[in-house]
Amino acid sequence: MQLSKSVYLVGSGAAGFSLTHPSDCHIYLVDGGGQAALIDAGAGLGKTAVLENIQSHGFSLEDIHYLFLTHLHADHAGGAAGLHGAIKNLDVLVSQKTAFALREGDEAAISLAAGKRGGYYEPEYHFEPCPVDLELVDGQAIQVGEVRIKAIETPGHCAGHMTFVMEDANRTYMFSGDNLFFGGKILLQPLPDCNLQEQIHSIEKLADLSIDVFLPGHGCISLQDGQRHINEALSWTGRCMIPPGFI
Ligand SMILES: [Zn+2]
Repeated sequence: MQLSKSVYLVGSGAAGFSLTHPSDCHIYLVDGGGQAALIDAGAGLGKTAVLENIQSHGFSLEDIHYLFLTHLHADHAGGAAGLHGAIKNLDVLVSQKTAFALREGDEAAISLAAGKRGGYYEPEYHFEPCPVDLELVDGQAIQVGEVRIKAIETPGHCAGHMTFVMEDANRTYMFSGDNLFFGGKILLQPLPDCNLQEQIHSIEKLADLSIDVFLPGHGCISLQDGQRHINEALSWTGRCMIPPGFI
């Protein structure tokens, strides 16, 4: 599904548009012109459909040079190993804080057992280890063809969460992962690396970015006036209240 001149949605699960496997987050393809990148990998169970969607938009798999991961929860990063195996020369980029967990397939670090108990993954599901090519730090920018994708460290939903901001010729995009959702909602979970104070600070870091296109990891997206979702969350935190939860 083409969202703009330079961004496509190539994967999405039951908490989105049901394009691919129900467990998948939104998986975005960025066309930088000459190079392309994926934002998040999905759970891995819908890999074939994701690859077909990429190719149905006229891209060859060799066009995809980068996989940016917002965080390592299995619905976002479980598919990284499969994509890395299927796409030649794919560089995998993830926060320096959690790169170890992807390299080692560390299921405890990503609270996979809790996800299984919650019914989000089958008992036989496993988080496959995947090589990491670049460990991202706060503020780091990566050139993808003619566009730059900047990583903003936004922990809170979980450790090592990154939000990505990109500008093309016309608009500013935010890929917010599970840091922030449509309507200023957030997703706090009873997991060891979820932290409310960090979550609030991570929203405050996004003020004044003048985001046009708001592309979260699940649910509704916005193709115009995306900054309003950040402002809505800030309207709660500014009154010493917690923004509503994403369901
Ligand atoms: Zn998550």
